[in-house]
Amino acid sequence: VALCEPEEAPPARSRPRVLEPRFNWTLFWQFLRPHLLVLGAAVVLALGAALVNVQIPLLLGQLVEIVAKYTRDHVGSFLKESRSLSTHLLLLYGLQGLLTFGYLVLLSRIGERMAVDLRRALFCNLLRQDIEFFDAKKTGQLVSRLTTDVQEFKSSFKLVISQGLRSCTQVAGCLVSLSMLSTRLTLLLMVATPALMGVGTLMGSALRKLSRQCQEQVARATGVADEALGNVRTVRAFAMEQREEERYGAELEGSRCKAEELGRGIALFQGLSNIAFNCMVLGTLFVGGSLVAGQQLTGGDLMSFLVASQTVQRSMANLSILFGQVVRGLSAGARVFEYMTLSPGIPLSGGCSLPRERLRGSIAFHNVSFSYPCRPGFPVLRDFSLTLPPGKIVALVGQSGGGKTTVASLLERFYDPTAGMVTLDGQDLRTLDPSWLRGQVIGFISQEPVLFGTTIMENIRFGKVDASDEEVYAAAREANAHEFIISFPEGYDTIVGERGATLSGGQKQRLAIARALIKQPAVLILDEATSALDSESERVVQEALDRASAGRTVLVIAHRLSTVRAAHQIVVMAHGRVCEMGTHEELLKKGGLYSELIRRQALDTPPPEAPQ
Ligand code: ADP
Ligand code: MG
Repeated sequence: VALCEPEEAPPARSRPRVLEPRFNWTLFWQFLRPHLLVLGAAVVLALGAALVNVQIPLLLGQLVEIVAKYTRDHVGSFLKESRSLSTHLLLLYGLQGLLTFGYLVLLSRIGERMAVDLRRALFCNLLRQDIEFFDAKKTGQLVSRLTTDVQEFKSSFKLVISQGLRSCTQVAGCLVSLSMLSTRLTLLLMVATPALMGVGTLMGSALRKLSRQCQEQVARATGVADEALGNVRTVRAFAMEQREEERYGAELEGSRCKAEELGRGIALFQGLSNIAFNCMVLGTLFVGGSLVAGQQLTGGDLMSFLVASQTVQRSMANLSILFGQVVRGLSAGARVFEYMTLSPGIPLSGGCSLPRERLRGSIAFHNVSFSYPCRPGFPVLRDFSLTLPPGKIVALVGQSGGGKTTVASLLERFYDPTAGMVTLDGQDLRTLDPSWLRGQVIGFISQEPVLFGTTIMENIRFGKVDASDEEVYAAAREANAHEFIISFPEGYDTIVGERGATLSGGQKQRLAIARALIKQPAVLILDEATSALDSESERVVQEALDRASAGRTVLVIAHRLSTVRAAHQIVVMAHGRVCEMGTHEELLKKGGLYSELIRRQALDTPPPEAPQ
């Protein structure tokens, strides 16, 4: 199954993303379906509220009619005559408030639950992606899909249901009551409003474009600040503060210009639309007034008409704002759904596994060729063959950038080879269950151990979720970590800080070793495990590693050759191939690349060992 993947994946990753992803309606439906009942209820409530809103202007008009009557001739009791109408209005107000409360509660319930589902599903699928996916993506962008995009999509969804439904109903309902009040006035309104809305929409889309440019410019400025603050040591070391200030200042200036332009645009839009709306009120009063004068319309009806036409206009303005929100919501949703449908080439689990007692831990690379998927034309391994006999230590040395870490990544099955195969006890890795392989067979210790910002206990237990406290202590002892851990006041409950920031390099590395050892791996990969350490920490860590290596199949990757002397076999890599193989003595005698590397390092290291 994993082999079919390269056929369709390359176009997606080699082409830079210009194309916006399309909104996935099918997937959206799947997330919406569990909430359909509640959504139906919310829609009914929102429609009800809108219909009540349509009723209100008519009643207001009738009330005004009564008021007018009492302004003309002061006979009878105003209170008595207006009481039933007022009560009716009060009831409608109450009902409207209640309905609004209802549908808003229901919508927020749907929105929040859907956002949780979306985030959970997206996070789950992101974690399952191939390592090559993460090679090509920025973490910040992935995180913003989980946060900003889901947020934007959620609020658009809520807004469309609440505002959109209300505005549409109100426009339709009020148009009906308008035409019942006065056909002639309605026709006038029908001509004027769309023309104004058209102009408004045009201006609105220009403003939206400007606003997008404005945001991009702000993002550029933020990017400059982010880079400078994040790399402050480099900036300081090159005395570039002045230049960074200028760069940031220039971007700020650019965003100020754009923002002011946007501000002028919005001001113009507001001013013009105020004039337009006011003129429409005046026009309605003027035309309506002459109808009233000609006895074709009552004053109260004119009042109703005014209120209703204002409702129509407000609703239509709302709808045009909503349109922009819908566009933004759809593109945010498309970004959320994009990575939900992406399936990884190497699944996390599935495939066979070997029972622990039958596992010997012999590894072989058979004529493996490999180039990184994000750099297809650049072969890192060519026809690479290597055998790790069970229970033996094999060292892999070679120049930096020669492909040593790549060999470890292929063994962890972070990638699949382009050609050839890697086997464990004679079984192709591609037929084995990757989570069994990574979780129980291979222990991986890298140059820069990454810890999680929790307790030491939890960090070690990361290697084996169901490990008992005793197992954790045993692993820590084996990794030479127990002493320093219990010397902390909080012992195993010490919080290590973000990425283990409160520990020294050697302490972090020993925790990483404990974390790898707790799963009792049959195969251990040590990728430059001591090269970032000072010589004192290196000694302690090396001691732990030597102890841990006993009885396991070990692949030691190192550029410091003093650490690999004890290996049963040393393999020298160059240009993606194995170019020499043998024990330390054999290779020295041979006088090839290895002895050359030894000679060069002896020159670099202050106390050179006496040549034999
Ligand atoms: P070593 O561990 O021997 O120093 P690596 O295996 O890390 O070398 O790298 C071998 C080559 O592969 C280098 O040229 C490096 O630039 C390239 N490389 C390493 N990792 C990646 C990656 N994730 N994507 C693309 N190229 C990579
Ligand atoms: Mg490396």
